[in-house]
Amino acid sequence: MLPLFVFLVLLLPALPLPRASADICIVGAGISGASTAFFLTNYTTSLHGAQLRVFERRHRVGGRLATVAIAGDHFEAGGSIIHPRNLHARRFADLLGLAVKAGGDDDWLGIWDGKRFVFQTLRPLPPGSSWWRRKLHGLLNSLLLLRRYGLSLLKMDKFVQEMLQRFMLFYNGFESRPVFATVEEMLKWTGLYGLTRRTLEEELLDAGLSSQTIAELVTVITRINYGQSTRISGLAGAVSLAGSESGLWAVKGGNWQLAAGLLKTSNATLHLQEGIDSITDAGDYYVLRSNTGNEYNCTATVVATPLDEMNITFSPPISIPPRKMQHTHATFVRGLLNPGYFGLNSASSIPELIGTLELPDIPFSCISVLKRYSEDDMTYKMFSRAKLDDGLLDQIFSARKETIRINWAAYPHYEAPEEFAPIVLDGKQLYYVNTFESAASAMETGAVAAENVARLIISRLSLPMRGVEPPGPHIKSFAGEGEEGSWRRHVEDL
Ligand SMILES: Cc1cc2nc3c(=O)[nH]c(=O)nc-3n(C[C@H](O)[C@H](O)[C@H](O)COP(=O)(O)OP(=O)(O)OC[C@H]3O[C@@H](n4cnc5c(N)ncnc54)[C@H](O)[C@@H]3O)c2cc1C
Repeated sequence: MLPLFVFLVLLLPALPLPRASADICIVGAGISGASTAFFLTNYTTSLHGAQLRVFERRHRVGGRLATVAIAGDHFEAGGSIIHPRNLHARRFADLLGLAVKAGGDDDWLGIWDGKRFVFQTLRPLPPGSSWWRRKLHGLLNSLLLLRRYGLSLLKMDKFVQEMLQRFMLFYNGFESRPVFATVEEMLKWTGLYGLTRRTLEEELLDAGLSSQTIAELVTVITRINYGQSTRISGLAGAVSLAGSESGLWAVKGGNWQLAAGLLKTSNATLHLQEGIDSITDAGDYYVLRSNTGNEYNCTATVVATPLDEMNITFSPPISIPPRKMQHTHATFVRGLLNPGYFGLNSASSIPELIGTLELPDIPFSCISVLKRYSEDDMTYKMFSRAKLDDGLLDQIFSARKETIRINWAAYPHYEAPEEFAPIVLDGKQLYYVNTFESAASAMETGAVAAENVARLIISRLSLPMRGVEPPGPHIKSFAGEGEEGSWRRHVEDL
């Protein structure tokens, strides 16, 4: 007779494998993944015993929110500015006790056509100038803009305000705001869907903007914010234009702290340097396999990263519309711009924010001064669509002490009409936050999409709700911190 234990071992393959406790798993520790974790814990009283796990393939959290260090200063390298009406981000900063900063409003913008500056605002006033000089300076800059672009400025503002008003519906209370199963539903409910069907250019021409305003001012803004032309889809374009308004802000020390703080308050188990290679449907849970050889059983899985350049194997395979990511090369240079490159005699005549037109020979989208150490020693940030090699940088700069390059898979390459991947990728418990990026990519759109995914999970897993309400559309200002400038802050560290 066989000993009992051998008998049991022989029986083992026939027995169902015991199922380990299943968790709620989030792939990606950027602002979308961190917001999902935050809303899941903030909106529920219990996760029914599930542990919240967040996987991050890199050694740091924040994803496209990151800083670079130059000469002891930290500058935003990815997402840098936040709109005053981005209520989730404001609430996060308040809740986490993060200090924020706003900037001055005397931007010295120059619009470069590859040969000359076709438009410039006034040079900034010296620090400590009296309030009336600053007011006068602001007024003169407005008059300069008005003289060149006329009523188009007001029409552009109206277009942006209408978009913002609709976007604010995403902060309505639960009783008046449904949980959405698709991005199309989300956008149709707010009245923003139509903007994703046509290009920004088409929308703005219909809104009555002049071709010159679109070819110059609007182009400068879309190239700075999305590295793309005014042919981007209308909603992404409107979000990009909103980023040229006043009152913009950022977190002191780096916006990545929003993601770090949210993960901490969520009590999520953070698996740093653990990339997820595959997600397999195992019936009523998913098996996540990581690049460290570990396996995790997850009742619900949230993908909080764009899938377009990621190599995650799904079994069974998922189907999402093809989407290209726009690469933005962020180049940081400590040195001095070459006035000769810009047809000028001295570096002091070069505007502090150089925006560019959509012309094939211009190798960069924008250049801005991040910090001025002396008249001939500054730190600059440049955005471009392709890598700026040393030969080219040596033409653009007369001196270069330090150069840092980052190649971001930055945001979707927008093409109207936009197509959206499903939020629920398999009709079960596999969720995709970054499908919303096809509407517009920003920290706040990540948080808005994450909040909806968290509510979907709560309702579909029947998790007990906590009696909290999302932030209402009340706008608190940062008293005493002054107004942020306009488009300059897109490329400047705050
Ligand atoms: C140059 C630049 C400038 C920008 N400027 C602004 C701005 O001024 N204002 C603004 O609001 N937005 C801006 N944005 C956009 C904004 O930064 C992004 O929309 C936002 O940060 C995206 O956050 P996310 O969490 O959705 O994605 P990500 O930040 O990309 O996070 C995804 C995370 O998932 C991780 N990951 C990927 N695959 C795996 C895997 N298999 N396993 C585990 N982890 C994985 C990644 O490492 C990453 O950390 C800018 C972006 C760039 C690049």
